[in-house]
Amino acid sequence: MKAVVYNGPRDVIVKDMPDAKIERPTDVLVKITSTNICGSDLHMYEGRTDFEKGRIFGHENLGEVVEIGNAVDRIKVGDIVCVPFNIGCGFCRNCEAGLTAFCLTTNPDPNMAGAAYGFADMGPYPGGQAEYLRVPYGDFNCLRLPEDAREKEHDYVMVADIFPTGWHATELAGVKVGDSVVVYGSGPVGLMSATAVNSSSPSPIRRGADKSGSSTQRVRPQKEQLPSDQNCTRQGKIHEHHPSVAQSSLESVG
Ligand SMILES: [Zn+2]
Ligand SMILES: [Zn+2]
Repeated sequence: MKAVVYNGPRDVIVKDMPDAKIERPTDVLVKITSTNICGSDLHMYEGRTDFEKGRIFGHENLGEVVEIGNAVDRIKVGDIVCVPFNIGCGFCRNCEAGLTAFCLTTNPDPNMAGAAYGFADMGPYPGGQAEYLRVPYGDFNCLRLPEDAREKEHDYVMVADIFPTGWHATELAGVKVGDSVVVYGSGPVGLMSATAVNSSSPSPIRRGADKSGSSTQRVRPQKEQLPSDQNCTRQGKIHEHHPSVAQSSLESVG
């Protein structure tokens, strides 16, 4: 199969790799039809990690199930699935607590918790910027999409990482209905944070990143508004300088 492969710092190539295949009875094999490039891929791409040459990128994946292992029950061949970037087992203490990013069984390094596709230090799993992807514990890790999966697959593929990442920032910040929110970052995650804010509140003053100029406004911080004291939180500074503007700020650069 063809795949996007790391060939050293700032060097990525498309090359023929061994086909992904079912290796364990709990595996699902997905034919990839959409996959995103992530800001997190830059850590590996720029050579700032110990990502090994020859590994396949891609942790934001969507496609059609073409084969299932003997122990797979819930997922069927032909399902269109989105695959969250973390690989969880579904049965360890952390997975059962909902902390699948810190799965205790899928990373073979006993000193590490958590695994992901095509990512440094998160297990040996190949990424999905390829024609096929092996999904371990497919019943747990595949999100089966509804009838309109094909029609909206470029939207649904954002469920693998970008949208929940942007949304999670609103959860961490405790955004409430009616809040005014500043979103830092105008990339995909920032846009998803702004989307999550807009959908969680019917009447916020929406400030954030939106090139369309629709319901959000681009904010360009003035020099004197930027945090200058490392001991002072960014949110604290915003309150100090704009007490009537924002209740929360979301750092969504990524
Ligand atoms: Zn990502
Ligand atoms: Zn687990």
